[in-house]
Amino acid sequence: MAIQPIRLFGDPVLRTPAEPVVDFDKELRKLVKDLTDTMMDAPGAGLAAPQIGVGLRVFTYYVDDQLGHLINPELDLGGETDEEGEEGCLSFPGLTFPTPRAIRAVAKGFTMHGEPVTIEGTDLMARCFQHETDHLDGVLFIDRLDAKQRKLAMKAIREAEWSGLSAPVVKISPHATQGRAL
Ligand SMILES: [Zn+2]
Repeated sequence: MAIQPIRLFGDPVLRTPAEPVVDFDKELRKLVKDLTDTMMDAPGAGLAAPQIGVGLRVFTYYVDDQLGHLINPELDLGGETDEEGEEGCLSFPGLTFPTPRAIRAVAKGFTMHGEPVTIEGTDLMARCFQHETDHLDGVLFIDRLDAKQRKLAMKAIREAEWSGLSAPVVKISPHATQGRAL
C-alpha cells in the first residue's frame, strides 16, 4: 500500500494542466498503484494524478465494482445531459452539488502497459470519466455548476473546515455569467 495525501481545493496543482504520459515504465505502474490504493482508501469512485500532486494524464476509477485506470484519456461524449446528478470530489471533502454531465462517454486511452483501450461508460461511469478527465485539464467540478449552484458551492467551501490554506481560484466556465466568477 502506498496511500498518498489528497490535495485539496486551493492547491495550485489542481489548476495545472497535466502532461501526457510518454514513458510506460515502472514509475508509471507505481503511480497507478498509488492512485488505486489512495482512491480505495478514501474511498472514492475516481482519482486523478494531480490530486496526489503528480502532473501526468492518468486517472483511476472504481464504479459499479469495476476497477480500472486510464492513461492519456480522450473522451467522446453523447446522449443527453444529466443536469441533476449529485457529484463530489475528494479534493472538496464532504461537498456535493448537482453537476451537469453527458450521460454517455466513450473514453479512449492506454493501459499502464501501453496497450490501447476503449471503455464505454454510462451514467455514473460516464460522469466519473468526465470528472477525472477535467482534473487532467485543471478543470474542477465547481466550474461545471450553474451560477446558482456555484454560488452555493463557494459559500460552502469558504465555510468548510479544510478550506483557507490558500486563496481559492475559480475559473470562468464557458456558460458563465457575464464573465464574472462567483
Ligand atoms: Zn475530483
